[in-house]
Amino acid sequence: MAEEPLTLTILGSGTSSGVPVIGCDCSVCASHDSRNRRLRCSALLAWGEYRVLIDTATDLREQALTHELKRVDAVLYTHCHADHVNGIDDLRCFNALSGKDIPIYGASWVLEQLKHNFSYVFREQTRGFRPQLRSVEVSGAFELFGREIVPVVLHHGHDKVIGYRIGRMAYLTDCSEIPVAAREQLCDLDLLVIDGLRFRHHPTHFTVDEAVEMARLLQAKRVVLTHLSHDVDYERDSLQLPEHVEFAYDGLSVTL
Ligand SMILES: [Zn+2]
Ligand SMILES: [Zn+2]
Ligand SMILES: [Zn+2]
Repeated sequence: MAEEPLTLTILGSGTSSGVPVIGCDCSVCASHDSRNRRLRCSALLAWGEYRVLIDTATDLREQALTHELKRVDAVLYTHCHADHVNGIDDLRCFNALSGKDIPIYGASWVLEQLKHNFSYVFREQTRGFRPQLRSVEVSGAFELFGREIVPVVLHHGHDKVIGYRIGRMAYLTDCSEIPVAAREQLCDLDLLVIDGLRFRHHPTHFTVDEAVEMARLLQAKRVVLTHLSHDVDYERDSLQLPEHVEFAYDGLSVTL
């Protein structure tokens, strides 16, 4: 069956602090290159009329305004760290626009943490000033608006994170290791978006070199490094990347 084109847009390419970092005077934080200004990490998937968020980053409101986003049909959560979920309350606006609740997909442990951290959202009694969400537990591949979504379990230090494969794209944020079983689910990719935080070692994120090496093992055709810190200068550091690898920037959009 011929599928409609699928577009992935990087809404935020930054690490948890965003870039510039509050109070930092480094050359990247002071840079006027818009590709060095990074909102918190998330992405938008679009096919047909559907708009699906991967995470509700802290900066969701600004991202939605920038991209004139007028609908969110579902959210795929990777994990429950603050930078990936703190925009959850802004989903209210999309409920108001559609008049419908929004299904949120995540692993059982992610949904549990969300319900704990944002208990007001999930409490039946609080009508009105809360997003109307319906949680859907993800264990294996599932269908969403006519497309197969394959969740992939990754390691984020000692935590687990869900990456998502959709067709020949995969979005793998916040990871420091991809277990062998997951690698088998990530073959034949035309686009791999992968965590490549910075150049120095980090206990819970791939470095740029580690991400490049993992992408080589997976043999992905085009590789986009995301969740970038202020150690990465887009223009200066792009020079040292292999030809098929690039840094993400806010607004980067790829259609397959
Ligand atoms: Zn993160
Ligand atoms: Zn800085
Ligand atoms: Zn994280």
